[in-house]
Amino acid sequence: MIIELVNTGTELMLGRVLNTHQQWLCRQLADSGYVVSRQVAVPDTGSAILAAVSEALARADIVITTGGLGPTSDDITRELIAGSLGKELREDPDVMAHIRQFFEARNRRMPKSTLVQALIPDGALVLKNPHGTAPGLAIELRPNPFRPGNAGWLIMLPGPPRELRPMFTDSVMPLLRCVLPIASAFVCRTLRATGIGESSVEERVAKPLQELLQDGLQLGYCARPGQVDVRLAAQTSGAEKIVNRAVAIVREKLGVYLYAESDAEIEDTLVSLLSERNETLALAESCTGGYIAHRLTNVPGASSVLLGGLVTYSNRAKEKFLGVRSETLDAHGAVSESVAREMAQGAREAMLSNYALSVTGIAGPSGGSDLKPVGTVFIGLAGHFGCIVERNFNPFDRKTFKEVTAQQAFDLLRRKLLAGI
Ligand code: ATP
Ligand code: MG
Repeated sequence: MIIELVNTGTELMLGRVLNTHQQWLCRQLADSGYVVSRQVAVPDTGSAILAAVSEALARADIVITTGGLGPTSDDITRELIAGSLGKELREDPDVMAHIRQFFEARNRRMPKSTLVQALIPDGALVLKNPHGTAPGLAIELRPNPFRPGNAGWLIMLPGPPRELRPMFTDSVMPLLRCVLPIASAFVCRTLRATGIGESSVEERVAKPLQELLQDGLQLGYCARPGQVDVRLAAQTSGAEKIVNRAVAIVREKLGVYLYAESDAEIEDTLVSLLSERNETLALAESCTGGYIAHRLTNVPGASSVLLGGLVTYSNRAKEKFLGVRSETLDAHGAVSESVAREMAQGAREAMLSNYALSVTGIAGPSGGSDLKPVGTVFIGLAGHFGCIVERNFNPFDRKTFKEVTAQQAFDLLRRKLLAGI
């Protein structure tokens, strides 16, 4: 099955908006066995959109477009495509009612221009948009005028991610599974590791998985800051069995490095582990500036685990709020094992938590020395067992430094919990 994606939007070409639809849609589709074979982004001009869509339809069974379904003058996808397919636009009373109701519920005046969104090309299926006014559209092309002798589907989705994503999950995936089911069973699992590099992951698992590759296993690695994803998929008879065997091998070979057998983030794993144990956590952050707290509070249920976090950036704040001693700061500097220890212990005592994590480091670009170069970070973990401190070296840009450091802090506690403390 050939699937192509056309992302429209001048802002994409100007570098003003990151094309997250490309990644998100390709990922959703691929994980369900529908692999996108080509993707283009084009500006909001009629000629560019028409050329991209007709070229895609000349090759593909399914073409998905994103953007340009709104009410403003640069939103021209609907009219253009209806025109090129020779389809009349008709007002749809249900969509019209939805748009009116959308504005009423928000107590907002409805601009007249909004109603163009209720215009539906003849024969198109309406994909409901509970989060906005522009519905998505799915048009079956039977025959496909751009690909003689073939049928096809053209699916048009709105630009805003918070509208596109639920619409895709709730309407497009079920539609595809129904009208264009994939030929054989498709099974896909992603396992996530941390604390180990991509090459080391490959070294451990590639050989043991060799035989399964011959049976049809698809294997992929994806490295990101502080994390490696191993993707195991199969689309053949016995796919389930092949993938399950591969999962068992990766599980065994990666052991404690593996923190999730799904798309979960490490903070999800940590919140689950702590919730199961009915235990709590406090944070004392310096160089991560609250990023660890931010990530934890993204997890539903974090409130039963995280008691609080202090961002103590200056020496004074470390002394005042965490009880770090001035002698310790003078003798060892703010970025030191001793200060990380006192920060963790101070946070644990202040918040009466089971555990406390602390981080103090040099994000750079300045502030490094021979003994403590930029990228040096100390991560402390206090608990009933006392306090341990890990020294790491993360010589990256400031944002990546925070991401990797947070990952390491989560992992320090995760491993300690798994070790059965
Ligand atoms: P609207 O009713 O908001 O005008 P629309 O369907 O016409 O929706 P666009 O105008 O193309 O869609 O895009 C609306 C917003 O959605 C953009 O400003 C942008 O923030 C976001 N967006 C559009 N395309 C993408 C994309 N490919 N990746 C990420 N975000 C996008
Ligand atoms: Mg728009």
